[in-house]
Amino acid sequence: MQYYSTRNKKNGAVNFAAAALTGLAPDGGLYVPETLPEYPPAVRSSLGTMSFQDIAFETIKPFVSPEIPDAALADMIHEAYSFEAPLRHVGDRMALELFHGPTAAFKDFGARFMARAFAYLRRGEDKPLHILVATSGDTGGAVADGFHGVQGITVTVLYPKGRVTPLQERQIAGLGGNISAVAVEGSFDDCQRLVKEAFKNEGLKKRKDLSSANSINVSRLIPQAAYYAAAAGKAFTGVPENAEGVFRAIAKQPIIFCVPSGNFGNLTAGLYALEMGAPIRGFIAATNRNRSVPDYLETGYYEARFSQATISNAMDVGAPSNFERLIAHWFSLNQFRRIVRGVWVSDDDTRKTIAEVHKTTGYFLDPHTAVGWRGVDQLLANRRLPTGPLAVLATAHPAKFAETVEPLTGPVPVPQSLAEAMKRKPNAAIIPAEISALLEVLS
Ligand SMILES: *Cc1c(COP(=O)(O)O)cnc(C)c1O
Repeated sequence: MQYYSTRNKKNGAVNFAAAALTGLAPDGGLYVPETLPEYPPAVRSSLGTMSFQDIAFETIKPFVSPEIPDAALADMIHEAYSFEAPLRHVGDRMALELFHGPTAAFKDFGARFMARAFAYLRRGEDKPLHILVATSGDTGGAVADGFHGVQGITVTVLYPKGRVTPLQERQIAGLGGNISAVAVEGSFDDCQRLVKEAFKNEGLKKRKDLSSANSINVSRLIPQAAYYAAAAGKAFTGVPENAEGVFRAIAKQPIIFCVPSGNFGNLTAGLYALEMGAPIRGFIAATNRNRSVPDYLETGYYEARFSQATISNAMDVGAPSNFERLIAHWFSLNQFRRIVRGVWVSDDDTRKTIAEVHKTTGYFLDPHTAVGWRGVDQLLANRRLPTGPLAVLATAHPAKFAETVEPLTGPVPVPQSLAEAMKRKPNAAIIPAEISALLEVLS
């Protein structure tokens, strides 16, 4: 597969290895695949019964061929995905639970594949690849965990000191080994600025092979298409209502996914799955009050904005970087509106929804998932949704955001991976928000 920059579709195609290892195109654009492959008919008709790992293999293969051969890809997938993405019935809809990975958020799906792909593509190099990544909380944990113990790669995660949760700090700074953590005395924006300055530093570039692992990297998006295809297949076939295997009748209908969105990487992956032929009817893009994309869908006018802080903070993005990818790939505004419906949700309504859903069903929503849940409620109330199967992507485990959820629901059960992470001792270098201090730590 060849990849083009969103800003120059005619020239400068590169292969998957180059697109993944460089992240951003030289002209500042994002890499997009030149075409979207289709599932072979035999795969397409078996999506409802294939294992997640097999669907991941069929989904990723055309995007990474020929640089990653089939046998290597199969190994990577089995190592990366020792957990599932179950689809559960909750009240009048379904929840696609994407929080069963080691850091309890959907970013594990992208980060774990990316780590193994990088290791494969760099095999035989003497110099280790050094990954620099800035995080406001969730990305850093998933990237640290994904790359932990991966041969030939070292990682430095920068996070704003005192502005991540104690659990997130342990996920980022508690692993050690090939993962180093740097607590910056400043904001997330300072962390991002330091990473950008480090990438421009000639001395550092001579000493180290540098790369980044942020969410614009196409190798993080591609594997996410797999869970959409798997869930759409299951819904089309009929999803077991409970552990006893009682089937809830679902006529052979394509599904609607509601995607709690910030940078819009997850939604982009969903659109890949649709284009590849998974039985998907459309999407709801649900945001918090950082509503640049819902406003664009409403008015036809796109405006990047400053981000505003909310209780669903992994979605506090005023200028979503994947918007450029969405627009470049497909869409006239009208095509976009046919496939994606926008909605935004306030913090008050997010809290109310966490409390209500727990009271009526016993199910715990994290604040990001609750934005999606409420978005569906709002569209249903306005009769703006067709009937048929519908799933909200549960993007994080509620225990990850216990400070917000527990006052509304009472105690949230903690999964083992999070309980174990809480026992780690965070160990980070603390630096002022200055490039000289970062260069010293990196030397
Ligand atoms: C990153 C994140 C999101 C937003 O995903 P995008 O791909 O940036 O739109 C939503 N929920 C959680 C829990 C996240 O960590």
